[in-house]
Amino acid sequence: MKRTMTCIECPRGCALEVTLENEWKVSSVAGHQCPRGEKYARQEIEAPMRTLTTAVLTRGLELRMLPVRTSAPIPKGRLMDAMSAVKKIVVSAPVETGQAVAENFLGLGVDLVATRGLGPAD
Ligand code: SF4
Repeated sequence: MKRTMTCIECPRGCALEVTLENEWKVSSVAGHQCPRGEKYARQEIEAPMRTLTTAVLTRGLELRMLPVRTSAPIPKGRLMDAMSAVKKIVVSAPVETGQAVAENFLGLGVDLVATRGLGPAD
């Protein structure tokens, strides 16, 4: 079974042709112009990761929502769990950009961090 994909690791955007042993296992990659392309294809098919970018509710701060993201990519298969957990978070103390609002989020070894600072409501 073959699958085509575009490497997004650099602007060159190589067209990759991936040969699969089965739906989740890569046997070979062609079309990449550097090793990052093969690594990208294997990761994307065998263990896809995504950085979650979203917002959490606030209470008593200058905005009702605080934009947040995970400090590193998390398994794509955990995104629904992550969104459920995000909906339960309410930030009520002022935060600075980059500050963790949830440490070791879902036990995944990454933090959920604020992507902007928020002060108290007037
Ligand atoms: S395979 Fe290498 S050169 Fe091609 S898009 Fe990916 S990172 Fe860039």
